[in-house]
Amino acid sequence: MTTKNPFDNNIVDLTFPLEFYFQPCPTCNGIDFTKSGWAPSKTGGTQRLKCNVDGTRYDDNAIPGMNKPWVVEYVMNQYINSGHYAPIARGVRSQSIVDKRAAYISKSTVHNIISNTYEQVKFIERKFFHAMYSSDWEVDDMFQRRVRFENQDEKLNYRHFKVTNIIAVKPRYWLVAHVTPRIGLKYAKTAIVEAVLRAGYSPLVIRCDGSRTLRNACTITLVDTKLDTKTKDEEFNIVNYDEILHRIVRSMNLGKTRRFFSIESLQRAADLCRFHYNFLRPHQTLHNLTPAMAVGIKYPFRTWIDLLTYAHRVGFD
Ligand SMILES: [Zn+2]
Repeated sequence: MTTKNPFDNNIVDLTFPLEFYFQPCPTCNGIDFTKSGWAPSKTGGTQRLKCNVDGTRYDDNAIPGMNKPWVVEYVMNQYINSGHYAPIARGVRSQSIVDKRAAYISKSTVHNIISNTYEQVKFIERKFFHAMYSSDWEVDDMFQRRVRFENQDEKLNYRHFKVTNIIAVKPRYWLVAHVTPRIGLKYAKTAIVEAVLRAGYSPLVIRCDGSRTLRNACTITLVDTKLDTKTKDEEFNIVNYDEILHRIVRSMNLGKTRRFFSIESLQRAADLCRFHYNFLRPHQTLHNLTPAMAVGIKYPFRTWIDLLTYAHRVGFD
């Protein structure tokens, strides 16, 4: 029996046995298969597999009730790029006409696909540790418009949410996109602690030209870390990586004019963008590795649907 990794790459060294990810063939118990169509059902459908050794066709019972893989993939990629539910649902409909693959989904199905994926993403990132340390981190704030309600409590009536972004510079790993209602020392500290927990180490240097609150939070939280607060005026040649990151983020779901109703919906959007950026988007300056590969995370998924299959196999749901 040949064991071939269907994700087809040499970089990944699987940390779990292949049986975790793939349904073995009922005849030979092997996992050398090709995908062979989709068996639709009321609740979604099942991926059909064909064994490459003996030709047995069988169901991949991985994710009961999941939507068609191409629909999930389409919804998630559109969501990362624009974010609005109604055009995504319309897009699926027109795409299914073009490709003659029937799929009609509602706005609430779009929402369900997104929030289901988000649940998996939250657990998955915690499973991995960063093998490579980055001596330099950068931290910066950005603002995102929020929808204002009439007759709202004065205290809650802010026009913007704040997003604190922290990035490990060398591997370009976007550690944290922490959404808070406003600027505040306690929020800034939470963001930094979250970054340290996620990475599993503290950096040698943290660069910050943001608010005084943010600088104070760095000094209090990262006692052994050197705080570098040089502004761009003092040192023209410093390439501020966070600025580049902001441009990327703004081109994704978190466009400058995009408004959010709640902290939760913005946090979800930010984390899904962050996950896509870290795990699914090859980076030119990293020789087409993803930031996650650059910090030494070994993972077997390259698409949203692979990710959901993986999450199901390792039992996060
Ligand atoms: Zn077989």
